[in-house]
Amino acid sequence: MKKHNFYAGPSILPAYTIENTAKGILDFDGMGLSVMEVSHRSKEFIAVMEESRSLIRELLDVPKGYHVLFLGGGASLQFCMIPYNMLQTKAAYLNTGSWASKALKEAKFFGETVEVASSKDKNFSYIPRDYNLPSDADYFHITTNNTIYGTEIREDMDVPMPLIADMSSDVFSRPVDVSKYSIIYGGAQKNLAPSGVALVIIREDILGKVDRPIPSILDYRTHIEKESMFNTPPVVPVYAALQTLRWLKQNGGVAGMEKKNIEKATILYDEIDRNKLFQPTIQNEEDRSMMNICFVVNEEYKELEGDFLQFATSHGMIGIKGHRSVGGFRASTYNALPKESVEALVETMREFENKC
Ligand SMILES: *Cc1c(COP(=O)(O)O)cnc(C)c1O
Repeated sequence: MKKHNFYAGPSILPAYTIENTAKGILDFDGMGLSVMEVSHRSKEFIAVMEESRSLIRELLDVPKGYHVLFLGGGASLQFCMIPYNMLQTKAAYLNTGSWASKALKEAKFFGETVEVASSKDKNFSYIPRDYNLPSDADYFHITTNNTIYGTEIREDMDVPMPLIADMSSDVFSRPVDVSKYSIIYGGAQKNLAPSGVALVIIREDILGKVDRPIPSILDYRTHIEKESMFNTPPVVPVYAALQTLRWLKQNGGVAGMEKKNIEKATILYDEIDRNKLFQPTIQNEEDRSMMNICFVVNEEYKELEGDFLQFATSHGMIGIKGHRSVGGFRASTYNALPKESVEALVETMREFENKC
């Protein structure tokens, strides 16, 4: 039976990425060696880095003055590197979920922080819209897609200070105006590559404004200067990222992805709204994520929750159990997930409804 991969992360990657990464692991660039066993300073691997950077610049239309970095430590290390490099007076954070809370927690080690708004009062089921930003904040940090709760900020905000965005789970899912952001970052394992690398797109002129000394490996300027080769980069994840970037380009780029992602999400949200057994956890349609679609079983059918999970699993639906802090179900519909998988899930939901 065909498996439909709805895992939230690590999560589905294009077959193109997996096949070509497998080839490179066996024979990289016709060298007769694995990509895992050649120097990261070989001309062949430097070409991988260069093509990856240039494809990111092209796909996201990254303006001049920005650098594209591949760093270890995942998105979580960025929670610490950002305040280390940027927090002088105070930092503003929008708290829209667990990842946003973790980013804020790390910033507190470096100085004053302001939580400008939080949706914790309603278990992070909406995006706060009315808040004031302190005018003396060094930056404003947002999480564009809240992977666990299924909310997303899809418009590029205009704010009077550097805007920093954790886009771990929605980068490359739609076009963004990079010029509105000072840093865009994300762990690779949702839409790009296996875990082990974080993507950072950073505006150079925001750096060098804090008084504290910064250890070399945590200083963005080191990685800019060394072109992500200060230390050995995670070569296999970077190689896999290159494959996904090529796939993205061949498949309509981020605008093409957005069209497909909206189509997939609409099919699933429509079914959740229609099906008598289920309801979406995010009521405000504007706040609904196009990447992580969360839903629960209606109160009167609560006892069927475990049965549905079992039924769906037996029909090939993998990874749809909701995160423990939300419960219910979560279907992640990342770039690589085909529309057929969403249609198969919808069919399973209908069959289950008819059985009840
Ligand atoms: C998965 C995720 C993270 C954590 O990424 P790591 O690479 O595991 O550190 C951070 N932020 C968001 C929004 C995520 O989805």
